[in-house]
Amino acid sequence: MTIGFGVKTKEVKGGLIFGASCPDCNTAALRNAGTIKVIQVLGLPLFPVGSCCQIACGKCGAIFKLKQASEDVRLKANPVITPKNLLLSSWGLPVLLIVILVLLYASSARA
Ligand SMILES: [Zn+2]
Repeated sequence: MTIGFGVKTKEVKGGLIFGASCPDCNTAALRNAGTIKVIQVLGLPLFPVGSCCQIACGKCGAIFKLKQASEDVRLKANPVITPKNLLLSSWGLPVLLIVILVLLYASSARA
């Protein structure tokens, strides 16, 4: 059995940013976006270890860091890295805990 351990980057997509246009192609198609890095063991994402808020253009595909966007865009943007998204990105931890509890219960029921 191999133990899969690593850091995985997940993309988070948010809603459209109204009234803001892309600095590259000048189209009003900017969306809130972001990435969350999670430690993953055996395919289960366990803990978030880093995150980054971004702005993505739906037309030309450009991606900017929220910090580097113009002040106007930053005010209109809605960061997608929320506690809820961080929790959802590490869903493997409760799954792992449930599996451990079931195994403990099964081994104590056998005894
Ligand atoms: Zn663009």
